[in-house]
Parts: sequence; structure tokens; C-alpha cells
Amino acid sequence: MDNFVYAQPVRIRFGEGCLLALPEVLKEFGIERCVLVCGRHFAARAEVLQQEIPAIRAVFSEVEPNPQLSGAAETARLARECKAQAVVGIGGGSALDTAKFAAAIAPGSADPEAYYHGEVPFPSDPLAVICVPTTSGTGSEVTQVSVISHGAEKRTINHPAFMPKAALVDPALTYSVSPYTTMITGLDALCHAVEGYWSRYHQPIPELYAAEAVRLILDNLETAYRDGSNKEARAALSYASLLGGLSFAQTKTAACHACSYPLSELYHLPHGEACAFTFDSLVRLNADERLEALCRRAGLSGSEELAERIAAFKKTAGLKTRLSELGEVDTAALAAACAAHPLMNNNPVPLDAAALKAMFEALR
Ligand code: NAD
Repeated sequence: MDNFVYAQPVRIRFGEGCLLALPEVLKEFGIERCVLVCGRHFAARAEVLQQEIPAIRAVFSEVEPNPQLSGAAETARLARECKAQAVVGIGGGSALDTAKFAAAIAPGSADPEAYYHGEVPFPSDPLAVICVPTTSGTGSEVTQVSVISHGAEKRTINHPAFMPKAALVDPALTYSVSPYTTMITGLDALCHAVEGYWSRYHQPIPELYAAEAVRLILDNLETAYRDGSNKEARAALSYASLLGGLSFAQTKTAACHACSYPLSELYHLPHGEACAFTFDSLVRLNADERLEALCRRAGLSGSEELAERIAAFKKTAGLKTRLSELGEVDTAALAAACAAHPLMNNNPVPLDAAALKAMFEALR
């Protein structure tokens, strides 16, 4: 076995109703003033929380999917205004990533765009981040990644300042997620587990998480899609999403996520659907002994069955599977953009623009 260094610094609470522990968690970290950031689906509940928890001094509830830098900048402004010590993100990955970026830039005086473009370093004294996911997908609650858009540009930024201090994973918060979002976030979580495992930087401890996440998602995603009120399936997916986040937090994702960024930027596919678009193709291209071993550990006969299960999930939810559904696609330009993404370098099998063009041509 190769030598490795493994670290997981987030204090995780898991369980139905654990959002109620938020005041206790704030106290554990000595946080007396914080800003809460969320999307519109949580706005009414955020107001109630603000009334109930005196430490919540301000709320920004306008986070949209593919969150914009302007939302993080406004959250950071609110945090400065109320001298916040922390930013609490409650929502899907979009709200969590907004909270992370806001917490990182709040203590600084530079233009948010300068941090976004890496022109100035992030301040050395970031605010604390507490993440409460309401989708079972991104695993952002345990990663030091923040994905933020500025206009049409969507950037994945990695920085220690984004690593949350605590995560409260409460499956009850996911009951209201629509069937479509349940499916695409579930496939995103599956993709994290598989990519964290097949990443060139794979490690033994995340491999254990990955196998369990794959098993749980394959066993529960269709049930949660068909019946969002099924508590067992929702809890299994919340846990699997957390494990998916832990699977790639150190090892990073690879080709599937590299392709998802151009697919979202050029053809406006939501993140999970963009990952799902190439997922089964890439399972086939990346099939090697290690992937076969993961599939067997997750209870599958092998990688071909995994590819078939992913394709079946996409069919069930009517997700886009052909390029013709995306409009006019220049496969050479799309493949070049995917090949140029830094995450492509983590893929176990080298895939250049020509190989990716062939993959996309097969999806016409
Ligand atoms: P999202 O946060 O964009 O939410 C999707 C939609 O679902 C939104 O309209 C939101 O308001 C709604 N929603 C969320 N929770 C709900 C609930 N409980 N009930 C009803 N509606 C609800 O979607 P997501 O898939 O969770 O996050 C995607 C974003 O996260 C993308 O920008 C992606 O790039 C990023 N991401 C980040 C990481 C990371 O490690 N930081 C990892 C993967 C993806």
C-alpha cells in the first residue's frame, strides 16, 4: 500500500432534525454574530430562524443556481456590516458555495472580482463557515471547493478558507426537493464517489466511502425520485452525498466533472445533469481493474452494469442524453474546452481532445 496523508477537518452532525442543533453548534465555536445565506426555497424558514437564533444578524436569501459572484459579494458586505464571525450556508451547493466564498472575502478590502480572478490572495483571517445541505448532491459541506459564476464564466476555486468548520446534515431538509433535482443531485453524488475513487490521486480511506456511497445511491435513488417523502431513502441519500463529498474532498474529481463545466457554460445544463451527460460514457472509457473492484464492492457485477444503471436513471428522469437535445453543437470546440479543463489531468486514462471528440460524436 502507498503512503498517504489523510485529513478531514469538518465537525459533522448527521440526523433527522439536526438543524435544531444550529444554536448549539454556533456556541461550540464561540460564534455570537453570523450571516445566514440561502436560496429562495428556504427564505421563509430563514426568517423564522433569524427570529429564533439571536446570533443570526442578517440573511441573504437570493442565491440562484450557478451562484453569481455578486451574491457572495453582497453576503460578505452584510457580514462586514454586522461584524459577523461566521457565515452559515443553508441550501443546495449554490448556497453553500456562496457562503464559503463570502466567508473567505469578508475580512478583505479588495474588489471581490480580484479575489475571484486570483489577482490578490484571499485574506488570511477568513470567517468560519457552517454548511447545512438541503440537497443530496454536492458534498460541498465537507470540501474546500467553491464553484462561483461571474457572468457566463463558472470557476471552481479551491482554497483552505472554504473548508467548513461544521456541517449539519439533516435529511428532513431534503424532503421538499423535486423529483428532477433529486435525480440530478443523486447522480452528482454518485459521480463524486466514482470520480474520487478513480482520480489519479486516489487514497485508501476515501475508497471505503466511495464504495458505500455507490451502493447506497444505487439502492435508493429511484425510490426517492418516485416518492420524495420516503424517509429511509432520503436519509440514505443524504448520508451517501456526504460520503461522496468525503470521497473526492482530497482526491478531486476527474473527466466527468471536467466535461460538466463546458456543458453547463455553453449549453446551460444544471450541474448534476451536466455530470450525468457523459457519466456512463466515461465509466466505459475508464473501465479498468480498479473500477471493476469498486463496482464489485458496491454489489454490482462490474463496470458495464454501473454504466447501464446510470443510463437507466437518466432515462427514468428524462434527462438529456444526446447532443441533438442541446442544440447546435460543435464537437471539436466542446471537446477542446473539456480537454483544457484542469480536472481532466486527474483522469486515470489520458483523454485528449481527439478522444473526447469521438466520445461526443457517439452521443450525437
Ligand atoms: P442548487 O443549490 O443549485 O439547487 C438547485 C435548485 O433546488 C435551486 O432552485 C434550489 O433553490 C432548489 N432547492 C435546494 N434545496 C431544496 C429543497 N430542500 N427543497 C426545494 N428546493 C430546493 O443545486 P445543487 O445541485 O445542490 O448545487 C449545484 C451547485 O453546486 C453547482 O454550482 C455546482 O457546480 C456546485 N458544486 C459544488 C461542489 C463543491 O464541492 N463545492 C461540488 C459539486 C457541485
